[in-house]
Amino acid sequence: DSKVADKTVDSVCPYCGVGCQLTYHIKDDEILFVEGRDGPSNQNRLCVKGRFGFDYPRHPSRLTVPLVRREGVPKGLDPAFDPAKPLSHFREANWDEALDLAAKGLVELKDAHGPDALAGFGSAKCSNEEAWLFQKLVRTGFGSNHVDHCTRLCHASSVAALMECIGSGAVTASFMQALEADVVILTGCNPTVNHPVAATFFKQAAKRGTRLIVIDPRGQALGAYAHKALRFTPGSDVSLFNAMLNVIVTEELYDQTYIDAHTEGFEALKEHVRDLTPEAMAESCGVSAEEIRAVAREYANADKAMIFWGMGISQHVHGTDNARCLISLALACGQTGRPGTGLHPLRGQNNVQGASDAGLIPMVMPDYQPVSDAQVRSAFEELWNTKLDDKPGLTVVEIMEAINAGTIKGMYIQGENPAMSDPDLDHARAALAKLEHLVVQDLFVTETAQFADVILPASAWPEKDGTVTNTNRQVQMGRQAMPLPGEAKPDWWIIQEIAKRFGLPWNYRHPREVFAEMTHGMPSLDHISWERLEREDSVTYPCPADDAPGADVVFSDAFPTASGRAKFSPTLPLPPDEPIDGDYPTVLTTGRQLEHWHTGSMTRRARVLDDLEPEAVASLAPSELRRLGLEPGDPVSITTRRGQITLRTRADSLMPEGMVFVPFCYAEAAANILTNPALDPYGKIPEFKYAACRLTRA
Ligand code: SF4
Repeated sequence: DSKVADKTVDSVCPYCGVGCQLTYHIKDDEILFVEGRDGPSNQNRLCVKGRFGFDYPRHPSRLTVPLVRREGVPKGLDPAFDPAKPLSHFREANWDEALDLAAKGLVELKDAHGPDALAGFGSAKCSNEEAWLFQKLVRTGFGSNHVDHCTRLCHASSVAALMECIGSGAVTASFMQALEADVVILTGCNPTVNHPVAATFFKQAAKRGTRLIVIDPRGQALGAYAHKALRFTPGSDVSLFNAMLNVIVTEELYDQTYIDAHTEGFEALKEHVRDLTPEAMAESCGVSAEEIRAVAREYANADKAMIFWGMGISQHVHGTDNARCLISLALACGQTGRPGTGLHPLRGQNNVQGASDAGLIPMVMPDYQPVSDAQVRSAFEELWNTKLDDKPGLTVVEIMEAINAGTIKGMYIQGENPAMSDPDLDHARAALAKLEHLVVQDLFVTETAQFADVILPASAWPEKDGTVTNTNRQVQMGRQAMPLPGEAKPDWWIIQEIAKRFGLPWNYRHPREVFAEMTHGMPSLDHISWERLEREDSVTYPCPADDAPGADVVFSDAFPTASGRAKFSPTLPLPPDEPIDGDYPTVLTTGRQLEHWHTGSMTRRARVLDDLEPEAVASLAPSELRRLGLEPGDPVSITTRRGQITLRTRADSLMPEGMVFVPFCYAEAAANILTNPALDPYGKIPEFKYAACRLTRA
């Protein structure tokens, strides 16, 4: 029977940070179907991506041989690019030639211009072991800290605030703890779309009596389960949260016992928010003072309360300030360290937590240990038998600036697609075209790969063994289910081959050997071994013993700061970088769709998912469409100071007036042509959630 599997393999979903465990059902080395497994974060559930998003590895456009740019072909997006046709800009090469060319171009640039001429983007789509090897190659082979990945575009501001205030960038409690909470605030996140299985836990919590409070400029499906929904003016987050803090201070709703025992700086915060009253903030927030008071009281008076947030909080020039405010709310009310309490930035990509932990960050070594700390460097220098650079490296958008400025001349990009994901794409694509040498390692000829000198065909998630770490700090085992197609190779093998050509004496034979090395540099992995993960599939860090479960809730006694105390970090309201005006009167916001993942390189090649959402749309409130004289489905051009795209409109009653939402996964109407590259000064994250635009009938 062609529909009966001949084997099953247990693994983890490759899409979002929920980290659903699943079982592949395999027949003749092909995935027939996928079934949810009883993992800690999904309890047998899967969303549409996890259930139907697994045919992309066998898409006809899958890369199966290395490619080298033909002599004299200019770099840039090929306007005639058709993945179904032979590639005119590249020729096929064997692995030895491709690897030699890939490494030679990078080595020559380093020799001529020094280590700072090179940079690398690793990938949160890859395993922990691949992330570890990638940052190790950049640090020990390239010789700099210019290594980053897509966390810079997603939660870097949240991590900056968490590190500053509580000494740890990870969540303080899993999302399963929502089931224990009396009140759950969801702000700047849309879990039914972006963390669909986590959303099922929030619905279950609401059914059991947890009061959900949804705070967001846009409406969302979880609004139907919410006890309260605050729709505030885009970009006014800091004003709103400060007004809530003002209520908590003036009505003395704070938890003085907790504050005395666990925090520092509360008196300064009290003074700071004294004039930021709900009445003073109401107009800019577009929410009445009474609504602000009601939400502040509900959160502060709860016995157990949690705050979850997403990129609606982080992707602003004041993203770090937004997160600082949320942390202050939790600290003031003693809402961390107990079951049913906590702070939880919902992680986007399946391994963005793990890739960050493993050191794909320019200012810190693995486990967030600063590169500027001599003791930290000395420990890694001993582990890797090398000398390390003490300068923090550049971040994603800064690397693009450095290419345009001519200081970075060569790059190695593994599994990321900045020609789609960076803000102000024309600028970012011009930078990629300017690189003297670009090596791209991926599954497909992505938009970024079209700028490459050498393209190395890599491994899809179901084709490899490796560990990933989800939003709940659960380190989980992924297993190979099918062979690699053609001459494609595991990512860890390719990185190692490049490292060897930099003269590094690497000889890993399997990801388990890389994981073993990681346990020597990452205290977070104490008591978590590859063998244990093979047996148990999932272990939460921090974990106190080889036979103990990891900690679902952390920081009940002390915070991992120098003083053991958490710190209040007061903030002042800051306007968006590019406020709307007469020429550009509408707020543009961007993000994901349920059916598509990030830049669409995988899900747009998954048949069911692309059938469900086959084309780019601009979502607008029905009243906004009427105001513009448009019908749903009409073509519309969206223009910002950086560029223009044309796509169809969609009526969406959850959109506020004066705002348009565009998903960023469609190359044919790339939302990031429009977005503003202005950065949050701390997290260096661009303001994807707010740009001034103009809409006109196309
Ligand atoms: Fe995969 Fe996330 Fe969907 Fe789970 S919720 S199946 S991890 S995309």
